Amino acid sequence: MRDSHSAPAGDIDTPIRNFIGGEWIPASASDAVEVTDPGTGEVIGHVPLSTNADVDAAVQAAADAFPAWRATPPVERARVLFRLKALLEEHKHEFARDLSREHGKNVKETLGEIQRGIENVEHACGVPTLMMGDTLEDVASGIDCETVRQPLGVFVGITPYNFPVMIPLWFWPYAVATGNTFVLKPSEQDPLTHQRIVDLAVQAGLPAGVLNVVHGDKEATTQLIQHPQVEGVSFVGSSEIARIIYRVAGAAGKRVQALGGAKNHMIVMPDADLDLTAEAIVGSVYGSAGQRCLAGTQVMGVGDAYGRIKERIVEGARAVKVGYGLDEDTFMGPVISKKHQARVESYIDAGESEGARVLVDGRGFKVDGYPNGNWVGPTVLDEVVPEMSVGREEIFGPVAGLTAVNSLDEAVELMHRVEYGNATSIFTTSGRAAREFRYRAGISMMGVNIGVAAPMAFFPFGGSRASFFGSLRAQGKDAIAFYTDQRVVISRW
Ligand code: NAD
Repeated sequence: MRDSHSAPAGDIDTPIRNFIGGEWIPASASDAVEVTDPGTGEVIGHVPLSTNADVDAAVQAAADAFPAWRATPPVERARVLFRLKALLEEHKHEFARDLSREHGKNVKETLGEIQRGIENVEHACGVPTLMMGDTLEDVASGIDCETVRQPLGVFVGITPYNFPVMIPLWFWPYAVATGNTFVLKPSEQDPLTHQRIVDLAVQAGLPAGVLNVVHGDKEATTQLIQHPQVEGVSFVGSSEIARIIYRVAGAAGKRVQALGGAKNHMIVMPDADLDLTAEAIVGSVYGSAGQRCLAGTQVMGVGDAYGRIKERIVEGARAVKVGYGLDEDTFMGPVISKKHQARVESYIDAGESEGARVLVDGRGFKVDGYPNGNWVGPTVLDEVVPEMSVGREEIFGPVAGLTAVNSLDEAVELMHRVEYGNATSIFTTSGRAAREFRYRAGISMMGVNIGVAAPMAFFPFGGSRASFFGSLRAQGKDAIAFYTDQRVVISRW
């Protein structure tokens, strides 16, 4: 039996079904978990926890669809994506509202997320060019050599709750553009809006079996990533699970890209433009209620920048308008679940008992009219160091940690005492400091005067150190390389 939130599959308000071989079909699962609106606590669906039989059926459908899809010319595969892009544009405003309801973030944020997802579809439309190989005549007298990129078969994607529309779109459009077929296992916490995107893909002409969706949690994932008919795994989630996925799928001989958690540092130099910096950092920490792998939550003020930025962040945190995602003036919505709310609050408790000073306290936060929402107010902790759990672990909530440092050297040294390596930013008006930072930060996604250093679709997305396990990242040219095998042909005629 599952936990107390379990409900029998079939007893659902919103039908959440698996999508297998071109049809929405009920899972054979006997267990399900609730999807709730995080601002009201209302149950808006039940996600079936698919069984081995469901996973097998999804992988088999993808394997069956592979030969014909692989033989479809890339230019025709791209046309399906062009049509999908147009349909997504047409429906993005209604999807943004649906997404706000199941995730909690405001509509401006959900629209931004959908736009980022669409940009991946756009980029994948370039597949006839992106997939081209290389040729060299006369590698030896009368002998030519060429590389071709070929799809491999069935790929799977396991995705987290914080960007439930965008993150699946980091993966499956590239996988299918390159001629593979795909099985998506979305987050069980908010899988509803992406279901509608799958419908649009069908409307755009994606043949049956090319994209499949199987719902579930640990069990379904564990079976999927080791399935003998699966060639590779794209995963995004916490580092704890990313490590497991990398190990288990790797041992089963799969290609793996596993993107994990984060603890991102913002370095503020004394010469930084204070207005720009404060606005960027407040947006970075409290946007999406801190539930972003790029949230710049650990702020280090160098020299006298520390006092000035501290004052502005405290002011900014107090001014954040917390509310229901669909209400017009909301800047920051709830966190995803009661369980996560308790987790974030327990980090604030731990920080306080480890010696951090609580300058703004978001514990026990209430929002008028929404007594059952998962609210955590904007929080600011001062004097945070990596020895504290709040200084080294990912909180994934609206909590800023502040630290005073004497130099850029000291900031970089402190940052390297934390195991994660997803993103970092420097705020400065000095080109020399920015160059020094870029040279030495050792973190994969870097911002200069940018609060959320999110690469666009045509650049790679992914961290390093404990934030990423694998070699080829999401998006951009890496995505094409991940979903294809480069094969070499040497010819003499
Ligand atoms: P999570 O690790 O709990 O879950 C991610 C996925 O793994 C879900 O689909 C879930 O069903 C599945 N899963 C959970 N436990 C599993 C297990 N034991 N075995 C196999 N599969 C399992 O992550 P989450 O809470 O949904 O998402 C938040 C996390 O994702 C944060 O740590 C955040 O930093 C990270 N994230 C990282 C990036 C990035 O680009 N690096 C982007 C977004 C989110």
